[in-house]
Amino acid sequence: MFEQERDRLVRNLCKEGYIKTKLVKQAFLTVPREEFIPDFLKNYSYVDTPLDIGNGQTISAPHMVAIMCEALDIKKGQRILEIGTGSGYHAAIVSQLVRETGRIYTIERFESLAIKAKQNLQTINCSNVIVEVGDGSCGLPLHQPYDRIYVTCAAPSIPQPLIDQLRDPGKLLVPVGDMYCELTLLEKEKQKHTVHHLGGCVFVPLVGRYGH
Ligand code: SAM
Repeated sequence: MFEQERDRLVRNLCKEGYIKTKLVKQAFLTVPREEFIPDFLKNYSYVDTPLDIGNGQTISAPHMVAIMCEALDIKKGQRILEIGTGSGYHAAIVSQLVRETGRIYTIERFESLAIKAKQNLQTINCSNVIVEVGDGSCGLPLHQPYDRIYVTCAAPSIPQPLIDQLRDPGKLLVPVGDMYCELTLLEKEKQKHTVHHLGGCVFVPLVGRYGH
């Protein structure tokens, strides 16, 4: 039912330069965003905008998910940590990128959102995403090191535990600031850190020990 709308959205994301690679394009064509959207908003599933998912939180706009996936250069088989599960949609896209041999650990501070995200992921048979409840600003030490870490909410600065839990070499992507923030990529290689600023964005705040 939503296939044509999904195709059109993906075509636009490619045309606008947000989707750059075949793998990311295929992931967006494969994951049904409507399964991650509350019933009363389903008709807006393929509008390129954030949407309400309850608890004052949002599912990110598709173009933002695309920007983050492309910036992280995610590879098959990698171990990923996501801070801020929300609806589970972004994790489902990343699941397509790491394939069956990869794994995504995602942590959400609201239990009700984590439960719903698990259900959403089950509905689309996504089995390599593990959803945890807790304060993701401290990372998830149990499964470190991670090849890639990304935060889907705005942090006051890059949380040190996330830098510590990143593999060398590895990439960490964090929106830094208040609601209006700068998408910031930290690359770790041979014990050196290089920071790149990728542009302005808007996110809900990271709330927690290393958050707001
Ligand atoms: N990636 C999500 C998706 O595809 O639906 C959207 C995430 S939403 C923009 C940001 C999420 O981060 C919210 O669900 C919020 O509750 C969560 N969050 C905020 N602070 C957090 C923290 N310290 N630990 C874990 N999750 C947190």
